[in-house]
Amino acid sequence: MSRKQKSYGICRICGESKELTFEHVPPETVFNKGAVRNVDLDAVMKETVKKNKLPWEVNYRNAKIQQRGRGGFYLCSNCNSCTGQWYVPGYSRFVHAIQGAMGQVGEQKYESLGLTIKNIKPLQIFKQVMTMFCDINSGLMGDDSLKGYLLDKANRSFKRDRYHLYAHIHAGALERMNGIMVQATNYGIITLSEISTYPLGFTLYIDKPRNYKPEGVEITAFSEWDYEDETDVKIIIPKLECNTVFSGDYRTKEEIMESANGEVQNSEGATKDLG
Ligand SMILES: [Zn+2]
Repeated sequence: MSRKQKSYGICRICGESKELTFEHVPPETVFNKGAVRNVDLDAVMKETVKKNKLPWEVNYRNAKIQQRGRGGFYLCSNCNSCTGQWYVPGYSRFVHAIQGAMGQVGEQKYESLGLTIKNIKPLQIFKQVMTMFCDINSGLMGDDSLKGYLLDKANRSFKRDRYHLYAHIHAGALERMNGIMVQATNYGIITLSEISTYPLGFTLYIDKPRNYKPEGVEITAFSEWDYEDETDVKIIIPKLECNTVFSGDYRTKEEIMESANGEVQNSEGATKDLG
């Protein structure tokens, strides 16, 4: 297979129709080099629902393998190289600091990791994460202001009342890169997109109901700094498991099996009543 295949389309940041370049999402510098299997949601649903399997039991052998890591042809070379230069180095430092702390804890069990990270640049980290969400979602998630926000490194006009960004340490059986999904909950409609890969996951909530408190640590305030600002950040990051394909579902395998058993019992109960 030729690696020089060209791809043309609409750049997901500038919106122009151009030749698109391959971009690693998350960046190559943060542990995104090895081959990955891409599984699409429908395939997983078919296996889990029709064959009654748990998500981590699904046989992914037929899934397409992406040799050079996760990513795709999302951006034109200009948008790819600008965002890469401006935001990736700061983001990469942040992720490596957290991964280093995870390494120190090693195999010990923990629910969250508290650490102080010295000399980080919050706005650069924030803008890299927003770039990744614009990569995996088309049409700037319906918000044209993100174009100017991301293509001008100093731009700070961000809709802080619309977006809430949460981070967590990635754990569990599956990695997730999900575009916007809408979920009906007791709190109302939750609109979210999630990128959860080793070692760090991010969940972006759009117009989140006020009383809904997501899991993870909120880092929306990273957007309040200036581009060159550097600071020490004290942060407590929860470790959350991804064991299903659904964004925002951080149940452990045990919790999933418990609720699956509960459903089986309930349906048996219903049969009895009918009989
Ligand atoms: Zn572009």
